[in-house]
Amino acid sequence: MVSLDERLEAVFQEVIRRNPAEAEFHQAVREVLESLGPVLAKRPELVECKVIERICEPERQVIFRVPWQDDTGEIQVNRGFRVQFNSALGPYKGGLRFHPSVYLGIIKFLGFEQIFKNALTGLPIGGGKGGSDFDPKGKSDNEIMRFCQSFMVELHRYVGEYQDVPAGDIGVGGREIGYLFGMYKRITNQYESGVITGKGLGWGGSRVRTEATGYGSVFFAAEMLKVLGQELEGKTCIVSGSGNVAIYTIQKLEQLGAKVIACSDSDGVVYDDAGIDLELLKQVKEVERTRVSAYAERKKGARYVPDGNIWEVPCQVAFPSATQNELNGKDAAALVKNGCIAVAEGANMPTTPDGIRAFLEARVAFGVGKAANAGGVATSGLEMQQNASRDYWTFEHTEARLQQIMRDIHRTVYETAEEYGAPGNYVLGANIAGFLRVADAMLAFGVV
Ligand code: GLU
Repeated sequence: MVSLDERLEAVFQEVIRRNPAEAEFHQAVREVLESLGPVLAKRPELVECKVIERICEPERQVIFRVPWQDDTGEIQVNRGFRVQFNSALGPYKGGLRFHPSVYLGIIKFLGFEQIFKNALTGLPIGGGKGGSDFDPKGKSDNEIMRFCQSFMVELHRYVGEYQDVPAGDIGVGGREIGYLFGMYKRITNQYESGVITGKGLGWGGSRVRTEATGYGSVFFAAEMLKVLGQELEGKTCIVSGSGNVAIYTIQKLEQLGAKVIACSDSDGVVYDDAGIDLELLKQVKEVERTRVSAYAERKKGARYVPDGNIWEVPCQVAFPSATQNELNGKDAAALVKNGCIAVAEGANMPTTPDGIRAFLEARVAFGVGKAANAGGVATSGLEMQQNASRDYWTFEHTEARLQQIMRDIHRTVYETAEEYGAPGNYVLGANIAGFLRVADAMLAFGVV
């Protein structure tokens, strides 16, 4: 662990004391605090105003009961969360995660990351996150609908176009957003498109939103490679996961002439030296909603290894796009040894602190998630703009805006790292640049 300056260590200890047993939240806070030492030296007024202490404390946290009936008629009870972390730059903004691992510590880590990620997009959006410990795996369409409806019956009190704008995350895609928005519309009797993003294209959604997180992380990787005098064309890549982020990462990589030879899910890894067949992967994951092993059963030449470790596959560029802490120090060492030169995090906090250290020490271009995966929420910001002006943009225009935002984030993060004496350190650059945008707004508002 990097040691913290005395004041930052005190802040960190207080975060642990007030938020016991929330390991992922502590990890996310620590990573940001480890970057802030040089900022405090330059900006002592931030210490005086206790901006860091304030940023670490969510503005509001809501926990609620979500009762629903399954297809057998049995009553089920889940727990719902919405953490409204910071509204200095705009309404709270961030996705909803439905996954059995969800508890307050996961939502808080995600909400904390979201503050800085959203700030980096340059768009007027604050940071928040929500979700439930509901497990969508194996649920029927009707069960998903009843759960989403019950969830929104409670959530609607806390969200709104000017207040808090949820979207998807793991376990929440277009189908769930439809059910959530439908219930919100019914309860409020208003067609308030801007209350949620990731909507369908026929009812207020934005083109490119589905593809945005994956496309954005590829655009970010392309910028990092440019700095190294390289390009994606011809590169061998691996993409962990096989959900929304992974699928559209693979799509953009293939469009740009790179080859993706492995992807995965929480049960195992698929290897396909010929390059992942995207249409088949989409059929298996998006249409049939089944496990990635089904891909290997149908694709000649592909292999499936239950419990395999995707990070042992030699590649030049890696895209961790599954979930938090999926890539540890040993995995990072294996990637470095096998010649990996760049990593772009499509998931939120997929690399452990050990893993990050290994990449930085080896001078791998390491695109930290809050910068590299900001394309999803950035395009949600573009969806909000279209909703506010009652407009729909073309695919080309929206993708061009996304690409420009990713380039701007890359430049800001790169230049901030240089300015603060750590050239090439995208972790430090992202944390400082995101933090300063939020902190300056908070200073302007006084003690609120
Ligand atoms: N869940 C995504 C993220 O982690 C997107 C959130 C949004 O579009 O609001 O950034």
